[in-house]
Amino acid sequence: MAMRIDCDIHPAVGGTRTTLLPYLDDHWKEQVVSRAIDGLDLTSYPPGMALSGRPDWRPKDGKPGSDFEMVQRQALDGLGASHAICNVLYGAQAVYDPYMAAAFCKAINDWIAAEWLSRDPRLRASIMVPMQAPDLAIEEIERRAGDNRFVSILVLAQGETLLGRRHFWPVYQAAEKHKLPIAIHAGSQYRQAPSSIGWPSYRYEYYLAEAQAFQAQVLSLIYEGVFLKFPGLKAVLMESGISWLPAFMWRANKTWRGVRVEVPWIDREPAAIMRDHIRLTTQPFDSPPDAAGVADIIDQIGSDRMFLFASDYPHWQFDGDDAIPPHLPAGLVLKMCADNPLETFPRLNLAA
Ligand code: ZN
Repeated sequence: MAMRIDCDIHPAVGGTRTTLLPYLDDHWKEQVVSRAIDGLDLTSYPPGMALSGRPDWRPKDGKPGSDFEMVQRQALDGLGASHAICNVLYGAQAVYDPYMAAAFCKAINDWIAAEWLSRDPRLRASIMVPMQAPDLAIEEIERRAGDNRFVSILVLAQGETLLGRRHFWPVYQAAEKHKLPIAIHAGSQYRQAPSSIGWPSYRYEYYLAEAQAFQAQVLSLIYEGVFLKFPGLKAVLMESGISWLPAFMWRANKTWRGVRVEVPWIDREPAAIMRDHIRLTTQPFDSPPDAAGVADIIDQIGSDRMFLFASDYPHWQFDGDDAIPPHLPAGLVLKMCADNPLETFPRLNLAA
């Protein structure tokens, strides 16, 4: 079978007190029981929401993505993936207590390694880290770095502060050292309103407004100088959509030409830096409906190395069994399924 690496699937934690309890230390075992802590699902993806699980990908009982055999059958066999990267979306990334966040991130990483990665050699995972406390995030990266089945570091698109800020740099230093790209996935800690103007009334607005957050993160990483300091680092935008990128590149270039005196260390066009350091997963693919329109978008982005195949299983981004967006040229499909993921996630090559 040809290599097809799915860079974004979502196994789900069944329950805090059932799934995770064996992986928590004694203190947190006692805490989740005595405080009746359960259902720490990320508010951005409530399990019942249509986007969180395609109807035919929902198990009879439990959350979409929580049934191991079903994920094997549908996301791997059904969608033809030779490998898939598990990105667990869970409230551990959003709680305010940094110690609680660290304990739950550790439990989730131990759980996914023991109960998913060890049961299917096609699976890899991102390391979930508590970005609430960068020092604890680094501890978790170092704890997991010896296991090459972990191939990236998962952070949310909407966190407490912009990702380019210097207090996160030690995290990027660890990431670069261990060849782990930063996977920036849609989702919010809800410290700020999802839109830059304030709170929307509807989830639909929130989901669209996430593109603003991705744009802000890309600018922050570039202008703060993260990619100059860590030239080996890549950031993968996951579930960000794609069609906003060409206009954003043009605007970023034009503005940089006018005001680059403010950021003299940025010595080339921001779009060129994006082509070298930013990658995007291909579901949702919010492209024009015709082949010519899709060709235009790819041409305008100006790089076929930025695209990474992803199904986003079990999120409902498409119907049927073909997760490859329509109208993509065959050469690009080949690259985004194998060469590009292998370049972006170097540890895929190292894994046993
Ligand atoms: Zn996703």
